[in-house]
Amino acid sequence: DKVFFSDSGSVAVEVAMKMALQYWYARGREEKRHFLTIRGGYHGDTWNAMSVCDPVTGMHSIFRGTLPMHYFVPAPGVPFGTACTSQDMEEFQTCLRNNHTRVAAVILEPIVQGAGGMRFYSAEFLRAVHDLCYMYDILLICDEIATGFGRTGKTWACEHAGIAPDIMCVGKALTGGYMGLAATLTTGGVARVIGSREPGVFMHGPTFMGNPLACAVANASIELLQGFDAAARVKQIEEQLREELSVTSNLPGVKETRVLGAIGVVEMMDPVNVAALQEKFVESGAWIRPFGKLIYVMPPYIIAPAELRVLTSAIASALLQS
Ligand code: PMP
Repeated sequence: DKVFFSDSGSVAVEVAMKMALQYWYARGREEKRHFLTIRGGYHGDTWNAMSVCDPVTGMHSIFRGTLPMHYFVPAPGVPFGTACTSQDMEEFQTCLRNNHTRVAAVILEPIVQGAGGMRFYSAEFLRAVHDLCYMYDILLICDEIATGFGRTGKTWACEHAGIAPDIMCVGKALTGGYMGLAATLTTGGVARVIGSREPGVFMHGPTFMGNPLACAVANASIELLQGFDAAARVKQIEEQLREELSVTSNLPGVKETRVLGAIGVVEMMDPVNVAALQEKFVESGAWIRPFGKLIYVMPPYIIAPAELRVLTSAIASALLQS
């Protein structure tokens, strides 16, 4: 119902976290000042966003000890497409049961954990998180910055689980990357509570919020997205990635090859030599940037099948040579 514009994904996450805190402040529950998240997450590079990134894989370990402390539970162990049992939810549920009076919100990336490991997890896990948040009266923040606008095969990754969060962050594809713009969305209910106690408005007001030029770019980008059947195109990309990356799954050193929507991932057993691999990719006419153990592609939806083949065969041939 309500949208707050900012200039980057990280700030959209800061805004979401501040919204949750101001919501509980307005309800007179100021002890609810912590967040609960799952390990393996990535939410951005600013202070509060860093504090809910995975403390090990989140790239911010050098800032450990200076960040606000929150609650972390293990990353979901249940892959996408598989069922989730009550045992899989145990640690999450125990953490909520023990700490819900201090927890303002759960924050996570729905279905796909991106920069923290490119993992795809069970929609049932997400649904159970949603239901537990409801049960313990805790807000749910879904960070759709990487997954939004169709990337996982649904417009929003939350749709895989049939849930809607209380607060949602979007960015990246909002402008197709042409200008910095992100947004934090929330319900009328959350917004009304925030407005019900002094100062009566949400306390965030950056200079560049709702920047007209960035908004015009977002409108143009959304118009483009709505101008063709993006879902069908993502499906084709998914099928092609699945078919062409499958050859990598049996190569030595490869732990797992996985595809969801327009996301293709080859996870290696060990961290890759980025410079050496990139040299091979460039020789094959492709620019792909691996990180850690992950070689991955998230191509634009307008990519032609022949162009996508350049990427998949660059990955396959680089791994065959190494
Ligand atoms: N959340 C997620 C899920 C992201 O993937 C990113 C960017 N990689 C961010 C937040 C931060 O967005 P930005 O880089 O625009 O600050």
